Amino acid sequence: MTDRIYYRDPSAREFDATIVAATTFGGRAAVVLDRTAFYPTSGGQPFDTGLLNGVRVVGVEEAEDGTVLHLVERPLPPGPARGAIDWERRFDHMQQHTGQHVLSAAFDRVCQAATVSFHLGADRSTIDLAREVPPDRIAAAEVEANRVVWEDRAVTIRFATAEEAARLPLRKETRREGELRLVEVQDFDLSACGGTHVARTGAIGVIAVTGWERLRGGLRVEFVCGGRALAAFRSLRDAVGASVRVLSVHPFELAPAIERMHSDAKEQGRAVKKLQERLAAHEADALVAGAETVDATRLTPRATVKLVVAAPDGWDAGGLKALASAIASRPGHAAVLLGGAPSFPIVVARAADVSLDAAAALGAITARFGGKGGGRPDLAQGGGVVAPPDEVAALVRQEWRGRG
Ligand SMILES: [Zn+2]
Repeated sequence: MTDRIYYRDPSAREFDATIVAATTFGGRAAVVLDRTAFYPTSGGQPFDTGLLNGVRVVGVEEAEDGTVLHLVERPLPPGPARGAIDWERRFDHMQQHTGQHVLSAAFDRVCQAATVSFHLGADRSTIDLAREVPPDRIAAAEVEANRVVWEDRAVTIRFATAEEAARLPLRKETRREGELRLVEVQDFDLSACGGTHVARTGAIGVIAVTGWERLRGGLRVEFVCGGRALAAFRSLRDAVGASVRVLSVHPFELAPAIERMHSDAKEQGRAVKKLQERLAAHEADALVAGAETVDATRLTPRATVKLVVAAPDGWDAGGLKALASAIASRPGHAAVLLGGAPSFPIVVARAADVSLDAAAALGAITARFGGKGGGRPDLAQGGGVVAPPDEVAALVRQEWRGRG
């Protein structure tokens, strides 16, 4: 079993040891040391990284028998070793992990909500509480946790047997046997834990709850501590700052301002639709005046169809549909209307007394020019069709004349 320096001295950044075995783990070179300050992934806390004799340690795993395996970028021979852990990463983990002890204890004390599990993520950490807690009580636990942080209480390590521990007021029962490592936040929390913690709560800096969600009858609480809280504040500040500049409002007016814009946009959309419908009737007259008489003897009871193929300016998909429908409301007429960027919409419509298939016509157009769409025999819609109207007209003429 590897002697774990961080058990007694979590502040050790560099250490001397001996490489006692060179092996592999998951296809990577790995070494075993007689003693190590590298923390292996366990108990919700990720592993440390760093250097061993100048070679990068890219992973640290714990074997079943308690051996710590250091995954290294290239093989290292047995012998003396000098280790150095990446302190920035480790200190971040210590802030988050100690913050978790304090926050879990605060939820326990303020809300009688026990922590069932903990996860320290790359950006955020979470604790899963055994039961739901209303927002005002989450805020109360957050206040209590930060009070303990700012009182700068001592965080100490001691060892006890399972029997001794059974008589102590541990926050959470432990099933571990043999010697237990106990971590105590002075007069606030006592837990069995093998992780790394800061020496005083003041080093946590601040504990900020960033969100929560209901989960299997309990509550998952997301939080950030210390340096991560500052990073989270900065990114929120930048995002909110950019938004308030665009909208010319104070941060607290942001939500109502966006709601207002939202409902304004909806209303404008409805107004535009109405106007387009009215305009469509007039525009349809103009387009119908330029309709081409197409031979469609084999496809329709009529000998000819009045065909309009056009790309009228400034109409969106909804407007084109209104326009095509207005043209197709005239007996013996059919329309293929194309729109512009960004969605390049297309609408194919025909009058009730014309037996052409609009969906089939659209299919022929998209097969030739790209894009997609579909619909009914009398009205079909699509998008992504980038094509000159005269080429589309030629194709449609050919399709309608050629079949049957
Ligand atoms: Zn811990």
